[in-house]
Amino acid sequence: MQKLVLASNNAGKVKEFQALLAPLNFQVIPQGELGIPAAQEPYHTFVENALAKARHASSASGLPALADDSGICVHALDGRPGVLSARYAGEPANDAANNQKLISELAAKADRGAHYVCALVFVASPHDPEPLIVQCRWYGQIVADPKGNNGFGYDPYFFLPELKLTAAQLDPEHKNLISHRGLALRELIDQLQSRA
Ligand code: IMP
Repeated sequence: MQKLVLASNNAGKVKEFQALLAPLNFQVIPQGELGIPAAQEPYHTFVENALAKARHASSASGLPALADDSGICVHALDGRPGVLSARYAGEPANDAANNQKLISELAAKADRGAHYVCALVFVASPHDPEPLIVQCRWYGQIVADPKGNNGFGYDPYFFLPELKLTAAQLDPEHKNLISHRGLALRELIDQLQSRA
């Protein structure tokens, strides 16, 4: 099996990536297991941050690396909170405070449209001149009334008009089928397979 470092220590993501990449013969190792600290994410775009994280993990390990960066972009706020989604209301990161800030900023806005974004970057080596890059969106509406206990982050406020449910009311398998992260991961796997 080919080793692959994952530039994340999030247990949920590690599991999901391990399950989806095992059939491609990749053994996914979270960077923390190799003593690799988290990279800086100083950029204004998801793709730049994911690329920086993937390069950092590959350079520290000498192995191919995969990184993701995600967040929510709200249309009436010119795409904010974007890459700042995790810490929108400041440090330390707090989902409840982030959601309160978002809801109060949107109070007077008619346009409630938003989308989640997930960028995934795979590098075969630290200086890979052709990183594989995918970026996917998941569209919804921000509602003032939270619903559901699944998911995390902005999910209780992210309403899916076609399903008449929030993202937090979906079971994890359903969310993976339609979410920004699920779409991006399946697209990346297609690209890895066609490159092999
Ligand atoms: P990260 O890419 O896991 O660091 O996610 C960045 C931030 O974006 C999270 O802390 C959440 O605030 C938000 N976010 C990204 N994906 C999701 C999702 O699927 N549901 C809810 N919030 C998300």
